[in-house]
Amino acid sequence: MSDWMRLTGPDFERAVKKIAILPIGSVERHGDHLPLGTDVIIPQWIAERVAQRVEGALLLPPIPYGSSKTLSRFPGTIDVDADAFRRYVESVLVEIARNGFKAILIINGHGGNTTALQFAAKEAAFRTDAAIVVINWWSDVAQDKRLELFPKESWGHAGADETAAVMHIAPDTVRMEFARDNPKLYPTIRLYYRRFEEEELFPVPLTGIPKEASPERGREFLKAVVEEIVRIANDVIKKVEELSR
Ligand SMILES: [Zn+2]
Repeated sequence: MSDWMRLTGPDFERAVKKIAILPIGSVERHGDHLPLGTDVIIPQWIAERVAQRVEGALLLPPIPYGSSKTLSRFPGTIDVDADAFRRYVESVLVEIARNGFKAILIINGHGGNTTALQFAAKEAAFRTDAAIVVINWWSDVAQDKRLELFPKESWGHAGADETAAVMHIAPDTVRMEFARDNPKLYPTIRLYYRRFEEEELFPVPLTGIPKEASPERGREFLKAVVEEIVRIANDVIKKVEELSR
């Protein structure tokens, strides 16, 4: 696997540059049982596996800081201004394209980043000639597997799905004895209301039922996630080759 940070300049110049894989996350409170780096640890792990399996892929270092308004009142969260974050990501994307990549795959680990990432990707795509894909790893791929492994009410921020992923990737960071339950259904309309988010949705810094998690379930979910993202990466490479012929 090629890793941008470990290549020398001449090796980078010679490297096949079909697709750049960029993990993006956040530093954020995840209940009392998961590490603050959860949203970086997971997409970074996925990005490494995807980069290993896609020919011509180059792995980038993660962007660790994101936008986290809802949970900023819980110690350990770093909430970056959403517009600063969007502009920063957009600049990074434009620079990756300028270095010769016609395809960029973002693997996002954090829900609060999604709107800003969509803007950043679209703006960068039209400022360059690159195809940019944004994948929210927990919700955009392998959803059949997610449903099969975890009851829907157990999903969530530091919920069963995310907890299982960390149990598989970094078991030494998980403290299941501190896991609490907060099963919640997110509103289906786009409601922005601080009181609702803080008092009803997140009275504690998690949603879902983490106790439904296990390392085996995490392994199985992530396996399906990686497989589907590998497929998407290859499809994007093919599309770019088709259209730039
Ligand atoms: Zn998370």
